[in-house]
Amino acid sequence: MGEFDLIARYFKRPARRSPLGVGDDCALLAPAAGMQLAVSSDLLVEGRHFLSTMDPRRLGHKCLAVNLSDLAACGARPLAFTLALSLPQADARWLAPFAEGLLALADAHDCELVGGDTTRGPLVIGITIFGEVPAGSALLRSGARAGDDVWVSGTLGDARLALEVFRGTRSLAAEGFAAARERLELPQPRVALGQALRGVASAAIDLSDGLAGDLGHVLAASGVGATLQVEAVAGLTVAGAALPADDRLDLALCGGDDYELAFTAPTSARAAVQAAATGAGVAVTRIGRIDAEAGLRLADAAGRPVHRRLASFDHFA
Ligand code: ADP
Ligand code: MG
Repeated sequence: MGEFDLIARYFKRPARRSPLGVGDDCALLAPAAGMQLAVSSDLLVEGRHFLSTMDPRRLGHKCLAVNLSDLAACGARPLAFTLALSLPQADARWLAPFAEGLLALADAHDCELVGGDTTRGPLVIGITIFGEVPAGSALLRSGARAGDDVWVSGTLGDARLALEVFRGTRSLAAEGFAAARERLELPQPRVALGQALRGVASAAIDLSDGLAGDLGHVLAASGVGATLQVEAVAGLTVAGAALPADDRLDLALCGGDDYELAFTAPTSARAAVQAAATGAGVAVTRIGRIDAEAGLRLADAAGRPVHRRLASFDHFA
């Protein structure tokens, strides 16, 4: 199978929404009038972002999910994406399920594959995604204000727990492991929630490297600090429910690979946040508040300070 057969067989489908898709030198996109394009790229490298043994169908899902999650964090609606693939060989047993997992999630979000590039090399998957958002209304990292609530969607820490089981540093019963593994391998990007939070949230980010580090980017961009409630944060782990509270806190704060949204909103918007979450079919939890004083602090239910080392993932640290 040659390069062009491979593209035609697995990745070329008739364009539906875009004026021009796979097959020419460029794709053409047509964002609606009054909309801004939201653009994001993510690179997934075998052995670094995913294990070599990962099921290709799940890998296809995850590669697009992490990009959709970036659009969600900005409140953008997905339009289209491109796929840059470096492959060690053209293996139909890998390509067919990879394309199925990828395109099933793409269809679920009405996001078209409109182009890409294919080359031989180590397994690396790069996706650039395009979405649209009404001009001036994208959710940014810089909008958090002192007094705002801090919220997160879904659950945190279970993806990291599954990774630790794969690494052999922790063990879980079969059922808990299956659930945690699903969180690691099949993240559900919060695309509907992100759009519903436009005009409600003051700032947002998606959680890829761990809550503490990612929320830290919001705090830095907004010039504020935050105090998080440790019981609320530790309660966000599900598969790890039987672990000691400190372990659950560490997993939820520093785990990574969650692909949930962390966002801030004024206290006056609590009902609007809940309505957005209900409409999007995802639970949200209030975990703390934004302070004028810089830095990220932890406190218990009685308001006493709690001290933990907060480490987040950094490729070059
Ligand atoms: P060019 O040489 O102009 O860069 P290519 O020959 O690399 O174009 O690709 C031919 C067509 O196939 C282009 O429209 C390109 O966008 C598309 N394409 C290449 N690889 C992929 C891929 N992995 N997924 C989707 N489309 C692809
Ligand atoms: Mg090319």
